[in-house]
Amino acid sequence: MIRAHKIRLHPTPEQANYFAKAAGTSRFVWNWALAEWNRQYAAGEKPTALKLKKQFNEIRREQFPWTWEVTKNASDQPILDLGKAFTAFFEGKARRPKFKSKKRSKPSFYLANDQMERGDHRVWIPKLGWVNMAENLRFQGKITGARVTRTADWWFIAITVEVPDMQSTKRPAAIGIDVGLNRLVTLSTGEEYENQAFLKTALGKLRQANKRLHRRKQGSKNREKARRQVARLHYRITCMREDVLHKLTTRLANCYGIIGIEDLNLKGLLKNRKLARSFSDASLGKLLNLLTSKVEQRGGQVMKVGRFFPSSKTCHCCRWKWEDMAVSDRVFLCQNQKCAYYQFEQDRDYNASLNILREALHLIGLVDQVVSGTGSDADVNLVMDAG
Ligand SMILES: [Zn+2]
Repeated sequence: MIRAHKIRLHPTPEQANYFAKAAGTSRFVWNWALAEWNRQYAAGEKPTALKLKKQFNEIRREQFPWTWEVTKNASDQPILDLGKAFTAFFEGKARRPKFKSKKRSKPSFYLANDQMERGDHRVWIPKLGWVNMAENLRFQGKITGARVTRTADWWFIAITVEVPDMQSTKRPAAIGIDVGLNRLVTLSTGEEYENQAFLKTALGKLRQANKRLHRRKQGSKNREKARRQVARLHYRITCMREDVLHKLTTRLANCYGIIGIEDLNLKGLLKNRKLARSFSDASLGKLLNLLTSKVEQRGGQVMKVGRFFPSSKTCHCCRWKWEDMAVSDRVFLCQNQKCAYYQFEQDRDYNASLNILREALHLIGLVDQVVSGTGSDADVNLVMDAG
């Protein structure tokens, strides 16, 4: 299994300069190769990454001698990446590769495993030397490569390592998760994780910084300063949010083998433009990705429940349906007189999470054995024992 650890770098100003130069070289080579690819393709030829690499090396000494000032990976990897990007495009898995822009694209360059060496809190890079790392590599194993990137004003290195697969020995317990915009998640155990509350101050600051940015004159030094501040705040908020997501998903993946979750319509969600909303949208996608990868690493299973499954409108106990339930109804009231939950106030999302759990078990083929009731972990453990 390949795992990546992203570590903050502490370069000296000269080293930061080298990073910028290597990232610039990478971007230049990518754009050169893409233009050449498009030109050859239009002329009816069949360009490949290897042919382009050869072609680039033939004119390199003459035209681009400065590309030798940084690691060779800065100029050979982008051509290989472009080849892969076109393969993915032709297979219909990705969009057509685009030109990279100095302003909008994230500066980055690749380092193959023979182009770096790891020391204690430092990494060695060709033609540069040792660069200080904020922490040591977390994983033991063979290093397969690394990518250096810049976010806001900081440089990071993401080192990928081949590690042995984890073996799960735990008994699989099951849980249902309701995901929402108001509350990040509600678990079928009754636990809740809030979405925005802890970010309030940071989001307020970001709003202010954005206003300041738009008051500054275009192209001025103050505008550049304001832009960097906005970028730093964006980054900080992302960090705070990812911290919550990582802790939540690690806990879930460690404790549960079967996890039911709604299949979210992320494309639809991403259309709204409000600041706070766009952050929570981004975190929903991240939540699903992190959860899936962590659960699968541990040999568990994430069951996605269809988006049209009426998880909120159904009583988790008797299956009675509240057909005209509105989005604003935060409490579910079962109107079935025979139901144990008749007229009992249930939290909307909690009721939904229990339905999602049941539906997930149903999809796996375990539902008929579910002891209806609270749907707690204990109940599901019984089911798992019986199965
Ligand atoms: Zn009911």
